[in-house]
Amino acid sequence: MSLELRDSNIHGKGVFTTERIRRHSVICRVKVVREITDEHPLDTDKGELLHHCHWYPDGTMVLLAEPYCYLNHSCDPNTFYYTVNRVSYCLAMRDIREDEELTLEYSLCNLNGLVWECQCGLPDCRGRHRCGFRNMDESRQIKYLPYLDPFIVEVHSDSIKGILDRQVKG
Ligand SMILES: [Zn+2]
Repeated sequence: MSLELRDSNIHGKGVFTTERIRRHSVICRVKVVREITDEHPLDTDKGELLHHCHWYPDGTMVLLAEPYCYLNHSCDPNTFYYTVNRVSYCLAMRDIREDEELTLEYSLCNLNGLVWECQCGLPDCRGRHRCGFRNMDESRQIKYLPYLDPFIVEVHSDSIKGILDRQVKG
């Protein structure tokens, strides 16, 4: 899959595809530069930023390589992460057009619960919100159930079971 770094309409730089991507196809393996540890922390002098990092289910923090570190959040994303054995893959949530920006729902790929201001500009943008699957309203949670990274399902299994049971209604 051909990905390019370009100016984003959402925030700073973004990742764009130069070809059409089919729904549910695997777009790429999300490459990392290195693990961030107490012994080897982020070096901001080298431009290493916290918001270019990603977390694996075991809590390991990694600095993402370009262009992956520029994947922007959207409240109506077109990709999602699927993590196996400490490797994250980026998959298409729907058909994506040539030259479209690839976007992620950050609440589906980490557990940090940070409060931040989204600037995706979509009609149903959550604006200032707390990150995390549990912090989304239930209609969004249901919409994203098929796209959850396995570790998110594991961590939130009780509340996800509650959502499913309420849908079945008896
Ligand atoms: Zn938004």
